[in-house]
Amino acid sequence: MSYTNFKIETDADGIAVITWDMPEKSLNVIDMSVMDELSQIVDQVAGDEAIKGAIITSGKSGFSGGADLTMLEGLLKEYHVKKGSDPEGAAKIVFEGSRKLSLVYRKLETCGKPFVATLTGVCMGGGTELALACHARIAADDDSFKMGLPEVKVGLFPGAGGTQRVMRMADGQQGMQFLLQGKTLRTKQAKSMGLVDDVVPAKKLMEAAKKLLKDGLDPVKAWDKKGYKLPNGKIYSPQGFQFWPAANAIYRRETHDNYPGARYLLHAVVEGLQLPMDLALQVESRYFAKVLQTPEAANMIRSLFISMQELNKLARRPLDQRPNKIKKLGVLGAGFMGAGIANVSAQAGLSVVLIDRDQEAADKGKAHADSILSKSVQRGHMSEDQKAKVLERITPTTDYDQLAECDLVIEAVFEDREVKRQVTQKAEAAMKSRAVYASNTSTLPISSLAEASERPKNFIGIHFFSPVEKMMLVEVIMGKKTSDRALAVALDYIKTIKKTPIVVNDSRGFYTSRVVMTYIREGLMMLADGVPAAMIENAGKMAGMPVGPLSLGDEVALDLAWKIVSATRKDLGVKYVEGPLDNILEELVVKRERFGRKNGKGFYDYKGKDKSLWPGITDVTGQPKPAESFNIEELKQRLLVMQALETARIFEEKCLTDVREADVGSILGFGFAPYTGGTLSYIDMMGTAEFVELCKKFTRKWGPRFKPNKLLRDMAKNNESFYGKFAPENNSATSQAA
Ligand code: NAD
Repeated sequence: MSYTNFKIETDADGIAVITWDMPEKSLNVIDMSVMDELSQIVDQVAGDEAIKGAIITSGKSGFSGGADLTMLEGLLKEYHVKKGSDPEGAAKIVFEGSRKLSLVYRKLETCGKPFVATLTGVCMGGGTELALACHARIAADDDSFKMGLPEVKVGLFPGAGGTQRVMRMADGQQGMQFLLQGKTLRTKQAKSMGLVDDVVPAKKLMEAAKKLLKDGLDPVKAWDKKGYKLPNGKIYSPQGFQFWPAANAIYRRETHDNYPGARYLLHAVVEGLQLPMDLALQVESRYFAKVLQTPEAANMIRSLFISMQELNKLARRPLDQRPNKIKKLGVLGAGFMGAGIANVSAQAGLSVVLIDRDQEAADKGKAHADSILSKSVQRGHMSEDQKAKVLERITPTTDYDQLAECDLVIEAVFEDREVKRQVTQKAEAAMKSRAVYASNTSTLPISSLAEASERPKNFIGIHFFSPVEKMMLVEVIMGKKTSDRALAVALDYIKTIKKTPIVVNDSRGFYTSRVVMTYIREGLMMLADGVPAAMIENAGKMAGMPVGPLSLGDEVALDLAWKIVSATRKDLGVKYVEGPLDNILEELVVKRERFGRKNGKGFYDYKGKDKSLWPGITDVTGQPKPAESFNIEELKQRLLVMQALETARIFEEKCLTDVREADVGSILGFGFAPYTGGTLSYIDMMGTAEFVELCKKFTRKWGPRFKPNKLLRDMAKNNESFYGKFAPENNSATSQAA
């Protein structure tokens, strides 16, 4: 038989080698055609007497990127169409559609012939679940090997047997962590967890797999035999009583019960482990179908899979611009940000000229890259040789003439207009005329910085987040005169360093910094309202933010917040309305020199990595009211509504122009409650009319900063949503997977 996605060759020993190699794709993914063909292949292997066993291998550098989630999106569309007229039928469509893969894998597992998977490179999601359904797995001993079940990160959980097989193969605690955190395993970890059976050099994979089969690999899994005992004991046993209550507590601590995907994952595991495999898989499928129908899963799939993929493929790149190959990059300022930018760019293969005021400062920037890369070597993610090659690409210097060959120069000097003006002029004097100049400023409007430039068309904002190595978002800012070519160069560069770009129009604080400041401000306003500090911080985390607003204030720096407040007061003059915020910041920053984490004291006291709330907060704010006088749900809403409302205002001002960028930017840039799908999805999920009503209620109760803007009021009146009214034009990203 011949297949589109697979090739089968049976050798003289009766071993069928099944090579998965999808045409016109760089990575194997699971789509409908793969599912159908796999099912036929299992029938073929099981039914052919001449075949003794089979090996599933990949014809690409990696095994598989997992399931194509656009498939699930299609299923959900069908569900929503049918839901109104036939809710039961609609739920059945989701259940049956979403368990097809699980049934194919179970057929493979119980077909009576042994299957071995040879694993190289990336092995994710449904690809990992296929490997787990096989009777043995051999991984290549290679730095590029990565195995994971990242479904929780897009609001789902592994629904093709992953939850059941992992928990029957691995240590309970490690297994739960692997599933709940969507962690990626390297070769050694996968082996020590028992998820792969052997690790051999890539060249020897086939030989080792064939040997396993010739040695008589058992085609019946332990859990399909009589007398099977779970490795971590039964759920209702003394061993289970030690483990499961703690697992539940950890789940609550980590998720605050915001993620239906994680919640039902735990259900599927606990209930499934009490059942024989076929029933356990059915239970898993039922919970999977339930999760799929939640708005959280739909929003997370849309933002964190579909939209992110579209932005990574440069959905916002001007169509008429030719591709640019950026080979050489200049970085001005080798401080905290500049050093990080130089490092990630050199890792992506660019030559980097790293300039600072003196050689010592420039060398320090390169040393930063060295120390980060050394950690990667220690963790086995990179070889000494690779590290040396990256470092070789970074040239620390004070000599601006070395910028002559650079295609792009990114400035990351002090946040000071005059310093920025000077370096812009010095750099432009050395740069070729077509090269693009970008500023990494966090707050200063790009158009005003471009006044220092001879070539404002080539001047753009490329705003990184700290730490540069970890943060995946880059905010590109268009100045008034920035050309489409400069935008194309910026986007091509961001693609080269494998980060996700959003493109915004110029304004003070752009998108992300502006919204982040409202979150911090709302925390301060709560303090002024008498909410206990610990309650404010918990409300932030329970709402799904990575840290509480006071913590974030400390990270960003309170003296900076004070500077912004003072500048606004100066700008507005008599129109400025003094509020409790001014008083709190003045007391902390001016009178007590509490600047935040950077000087070890802010709302928290810092000792090394430890921190605790500063007991003197009450000296500044007065005694808080009793916690019982506040409704925690309302506090959580205040924090999220304020950020979503500010986003809607920024959207109305056309600083943001694409709903995908608002959502993806909010999650990747400042960790806005990912389960909502982002700031605008949060409004859509609640319904615009309800959101506007909530804003009005908060305006009456907490002040005019909650007043809904005209765009929101009009949308509420017309019963419109952001994704309905501003549906993105390019919404056709195809597979790549999770
Ligand atoms: P930093 O103080 O760590 O580094 C600034 C570097 O610029 C220093 O090494 C300094 O010696 C160098 N420098 C100053 N004047 C110079 C000159 N005339 N010529 C060459 N080099 C000069 O600051 P940072 O935190 O890296 O911030 C740099 C820029 O990035 C600022 O505009 C800041 O607003 C922005 N930014 C910072 C963050 C953050 O979290 N730190 C995040 C995003 C953007």
